[in-house]
Amino acid sequence: MNTQEIMDLEKEYMMHTFGRLPIALNNGKGALVWDVEGKEYIDCFAGIAVNNVGHAHPRVAAAISKQAEKLIHCSNIYYTEIQVELARLLCEISSYDKVFFANSGAEVNEGAVKLARKYTGKNDIITMENSFHGRTLSMVAATGQHKYKEGVGILPAGYKHVPFGDSEAVSDAITPNTAAVMVEAIQGEGGVIVPPEGYLKELEEICEENDVLLILDEIQTGFGRTGEMFASELFKIKPHITTIAKALGGGYPIAGILAQEEVADAFKPGDHGTTFGGNPLGCAAAKASVEVIINEKLVEKSKEMGKYLKSNLKELKDENENMLDVRGYGLMLGTEFNHECTDIVNMAANKGLLLNCTAETVLRFLPPLNITKEQITQTLSIFSDILDRISS
Ligand SMILES: *Cc1c(COP(=O)(O)O)cnc(C)c1O
Repeated sequence: MNTQEIMDLEKEYMMHTFGRLPIALNNGKGALVWDVEGKEYIDCFAGIAVNNVGHAHPRVAAAISKQAEKLIHCSNIYYTEIQVELARLLCEISSYDKVFFANSGAEVNEGAVKLARKYTGKNDIITMENSFHGRTLSMVAATGQHKYKEGVGILPAGYKHVPFGDSEAVSDAITPNTAAVMVEAIQGEGGVIVPPEGYLKELEEICEENDVLLILDEIQTGFGRTGEMFASELFKIKPHITTIAKALGGGYPIAGILAQEEVADAFKPGDHGTTFGGNPLGCAAAKASVEVIINEKLVEKSKEMGKYLKSNLKELKDENENMLDVRGYGLMLGTEFNHECTDIVNMAANKGLLLNCTAETVLRFLPPLNITKEQITQTLSIFSDILDRISS
């Protein structure tokens, strides 16, 4: 099928939930993808910070196909070796004690809230304005953005929102019924909003003083994205619970709740569960992906390539009065404009560069962590041409 035929079938048979670009992707390799017409793109979106190991990584592909020939799925009422191996690996790299596997970001955030409520015996969760925690009803309630709540009826109660970056507001919002504070390390969908210096550390202290749990949503920031394995290392905190998803499976849907032992023990047999979560295929994909991140030093590469990309974006900003800010860590970078940036996204796609616009005025750069320096140079050259065109 060509692009038009695919778009026609989508229109006829699918619910129209996504604002899509008129591109039908077919295959990829590293930081490159090709559409069904054979056009090549540099992928600076990486499936929303999912493809940290790049597309079609041979080790991940081999792990998936080998596992698929053995056992794709079995119920969680049986043990599998691959599942416990992945659990050990994740606890080792994160220095958490226990993990629970699920399928998606929203689902592990829900699970984290459930765990916090079980552990504390309290109900309320403080989250941040402009946050994003997922699309289930409960996570829509947790998300601090009105646009996601319109027309979906009564949402689960117990979520209170305070401004991101204001630790005093969190302190003031805590009541005897507060179970946890849930926060993204860096607000991703909200526009790559970096927390002010010391903010997350202050939240950690406030939670400690008030016997409230800190849940860190690292769904977008995890697995080397920010130039550290986890953003908690960047901000030197140790939350009681961390949620992970996106890049964990290298593209295969798998997610996890990481928790400190005492908190994790609040889940007793039967308290929580899932049919697919942590199934053998997902665990094989995740174990291979995490091993690739470690063996190929992708965390270091993210830091190094991120510096190169960021410093060059800053130079472009200095020459362009419509660009207001360049921010982020590692290969989680955002450039803010004084205008909507969907046009830039479309122009970039025409020129063979995939970018994303979020929060209307922020372009997100989230390439695979093994993007090459040449590919970044190419990205910058396309981007700079577009900036020249729209400002002239
Ligand atoms: C993507 C994302 C989620 C939701 O993950 P899904 O897998 O789409 O449910 C939650 N939190 C953050 C910070 C995210 O970036």
